[in-house]
Amino acid sequence: EKEQGQGIYRLPQDKVATDSLKRLELEYDLRKALEREEFELYYQPQYDIQNNRLIGMEALIRWQHPKQGMVSPGEFIPLAEETGLIVPIGDWVLRTACSQNKKWQDEGLPALTVSVNLSLRQFQKHNLIGDIVKTLKETGLHPRYLELEITESMAMDNIEQVIRKLNELKDLGVRISMDDFGTGYSSLQYLKKIPIHKLKIDQSFIRDITKDPDNAAIVSTILAMANHLRLEVVAEGVETTEDLQFLLNKECRHAQGYFFSRPLPKEQFKQLIH
Ligand code: C2E
Ligand code: CA
Ligand code: CA
Ligand code: CA
Repeated sequence: EKEQGQGIYRLPQDKVATDSLKRLELEYDLRKALEREEFELYYQPQYDIQNNRLIGMEALIRWQHPKQGMVSPGEFIPLAEETGLIVPIGDWVLRTACSQNKKWQDEGLPALTVSVNLSLRQFQKHNLIGDIVKTLKETGLHPRYLELEITESMAMDNIEQVIRKLNELKDLGVRISMDDFGTGYSSLQYLKKIPIHKLKIDQSFIRDITKDPDNAAIVSTILAMANHLRLEVVAEGVETTEDLQFLLNKECRHAQGYFFSRPLPKEQFKQLIH
């Protein structure tokens, strides 16, 4: 309808064709991206807000596409999941994050925990534990400085198997956090059973926390519940002083968000922690 004025008609089918062509191209490029070294990790700091202390950083992947510029992970991670490319990409992320963290420690910077996002396929890999052991060994990073982020949906099916896997990871000494908490369907029963250290409150609940009473109630409830279950909590997506003040008042311990810093390339992150 919009294009009628210009005398151009586009059948919906054309759009479908263009979209799938674009996708095909992106998939082709994604296959090359690893060997062409187009990926980079950015690091976003996480703070202990009660003690005003930097505690760690989340590693977030960036793809510098030769023609399209920066492609956001929201765009290519789902494609990588579907095609299975997430497995080698995920290996690269894990290795790079661990070796970077170890490097900073060797340079005498304060010891921090690096959080790495695991994808469903990675989590389901039967040799996940072996891969992680190998990566820690090869990079020399002590397991306590690695945190793995999983999501509720990843941990939903085959609960017994998930619990077994998480316990193995826990036994290794790595930390586990539940990302985007509140957006899935975890029951309290489930949360009680599942061996994790930390909940990351999804940023959709932090947004407008001082203006939206529903969000305020949800966050307060999550904090109270986590406290009872002795789980640590990180509030994600903290953007304003008001957000921070609310969380401080509710005795939330950890936070991450643009208010403190955007995700930064490694050189800039080093400047920050220096
Ligand atoms: P996520 O794990 O929930 O990561 C948090 C996202 O929120 C990041 O987006 C981060 O840049 C953004 N963010 C942080 N603070 C704020 C804030 O104050 N306000 C707002 N509006 N946004 C904030 P990013 O880097 O674009 O990543 C998007 C998603 O892509 C991630 O969501 C994660 O699910 C996925 N992802 C990123 N890197 C990786 C990776 O290495 N492996 C896997 N499997 N997934 C990844
Ligand atoms: Ca995450
Ligand atoms: Ca998240
Ligand atoms: Ca997410």
